[in-house]
Amino acid sequence: MKLFSYNKISDTPQAAVASASQHPNAHYIGGGTNIIDLMKNMVMIPDSLIDVSELGDPGIRSTSSGGIIIGAAAKNSYVANHRTVRDKYPVLARALLSGASPQLRNMASTAGNALQRTRCFYFYDTASACNKREPGSGCDAMHGYNRMHAILGTSDQCIATHPSDMCVAMSCLDAIIHTVGKAGERKIPFIDFHKLPEKTPHIENALQENELITAIELPAPLFTDSSCYLKIRDRASYAFALVSVAAGLDLSGGQIRNARLALGGVATKPWRAVEAEEILKGKNISQDVFAAAAESALKQAKTFEHNAFKVELAKKAIIRALAIASRSRQS
Ligand SMILES: Cc1cc2nc3c(=O)[nH]c(=O)nc-3n(C[C@H](O)[C@H](O)[C@H](O)COP(=O)(O)OP(=O)(O)OC[C@H]3O[C@@H](n4cnc5c(N)ncnc54)[C@H](O)[C@@H]3O)c2cc1C
Ligand code: SF4
Repeated sequence: MKLFSYNKISDTPQAAVASASQHPNAHYIGGGTNIIDLMKNMVMIPDSLIDVSELGDPGIRSTSSGGIIIGAAAKNSYVANHRTVRDKYPVLARALLSGASPQLRNMASTAGNALQRTRCFYFYDTASACNKREPGSGCDAMHGYNRMHAILGTSDQCIATHPSDMCVAMSCLDAIIHTVGKAGERKIPFIDFHKLPEKTPHIENALQENELITAIELPAPLFTDSSCYLKIRDRASYAFALVSVAAGLDLSGGQIRNARLALGGVATKPWRAVEAEEILKGKNISQDVFAAAAESALKQAKTFEHNAFKVELAKKAIIRALAIASRSRQS
């Protein structure tokens, strides 16, 4: 058995940061739906838990620039069912509702979802070699059973996918992460928040030691009426994505003025397909244009023994998501 201390902080983010700094090897806990599993499996072994599940505003408020700010402690189910999110950011509502189960969504927090760890089986199995869990130990997934693993953003150290659905939508929506740390407050663009594994797969994001996520901001919606979150998985529910696509189109008649495209289930971080977006911009809606965007998004794909099928699956999912986004509103 591993003993750890537990402190609940519900007054200020600064107090939570101070508490984390005073305790050795401290980790924050939101809903606990990921970190507790990791602790039970001895994958994460904190000496101290700082509970931030009741810290700050757990709701959603509007910004003066037409966007919204979602509190870090806001539950996934609350956000998914919030009237403003459903009406103005349906791609986020869809993504959240496609994840996990109702019980888990009732517990999971916005910050915890953004920071959930990979579901790579070898990461969870302490008998396996895993550079993310134990830097320098190797990667058993590389030549093991890698059907669920990434084809984009991989390195010779790690090929694990980022598992979140919410983050794919957040990436597509140009979200901004608000934090508080020892050096004060920061705002980090979502696209820069998660890190590629490169030579340091254990460093997964831009947070510094004990830095706390306080909120996630969404700018004014660009494509409310023409968006889609499409998730392809082995089961119809309660399964992580094999491929997921968040697509948003800003349309003027039949022309695409602006586009956002992000992928999940195929990459080591929530994956913005920026070059594909450029292909879409200024074009008229057509199957050929969607296919060209899909080709571009998967151009850099590198496959492993069991996951080559993801390339074609991702292309087809992109074309379908763009077609849905171009036709109708999803909510
Ligand atoms: C069976 C199962 C199925 C699932 N299926 C899906 C799915 O299909 N799609 C999907 O997207 N997700 C899925 N999930 C994952 C689920 O969405 C995450 O477990 C959940 O979002 C994590 O949120 P949490 O608040 O419980 O995080 P916690 O477990 O509390 O924390 C997760 C991480 O975030 C850190 N943290 C928490 N709050 C803060 C903060 N404010 N600042 C800094 N660090 C913080 C913690 O230290 C920890 O490292 C599934 C989970 C399970 C168990
Ligand atoms: S893919 Fe990454 S998480 Fe999985 S075993 Fe390899 S290093 Fe670990």
